[in-house]
Amino acid sequence: MEDRRRRRALAPVLLLLCLIAITAAGCGAIPFEERPASAYVYGSGSPLRVAVVDETVGDDWAPAIARAVRRYDEGSRWLEFTDTATGAHIVVTMRRYSDTAPPALQGYVFQTAVGGFAAVYDADGSACNFPPSALPLGCSGEIARAEVYLNDIIPPGDDIEARRERLIVHELGHALGLTRHSAELGIEQLARRYGWPAE
Ligand SMILES: [Zn+2]
Repeated sequence: MEDRRRRRALAPVLLLLCLIAITAAGCGAIPFEERPASAYVYGSGSPLRVAVVDETVGDDWAPAIARAVRRYDEGSRWLEFTDTATGAHIVVTMRRYSDTAPPALQGYVFQTAVGGFAAVYDADGSACNFPPSALPLGCSGEIARAEVYLNDIIPPGDDIEARRERLIVHELGHALGLTRHSAELGIEQLARRYGWPAE
């Protein structure tokens, strides 16, 4: 009885510590234990196989998707990209949407007027991340699949291709487990997350 009461009193304190730990990790990557991606063992020294399936339909997003994937591919020898889901540790599907026809999301609340977002799921199908608030709660961190949504709201202009590429690099980073909010590749953070040896 005494013990149980003490444990109950401790529970809020433990929760607070968890939140602090998660906040600290929040500027880097979604926390994980042992398996940072589906069937990928941390520090195994094997490449992370990522399938990028382009379901955007049409040819307007496709070139920027290809460039963003190439940048990650060239950015680290531990990243290996394919366009088929078979044998991939993480399957990323690229989709387009518009605010007037929002996608049905599992585990996320849809937000209007953003350039795009990523919905990330662990091996059990639980939502892993909550961009842009980056709260990786209720997920093991073993990323299995991600849906990257690209908003057709993107304004036209001479630099539209560069803006598309920046957006996709950013969202692909979330798909790989990063919770940071820059448009950089974040290879160092990925190396920490997956236990890759120094390049
Ligand atoms: Zn973001």
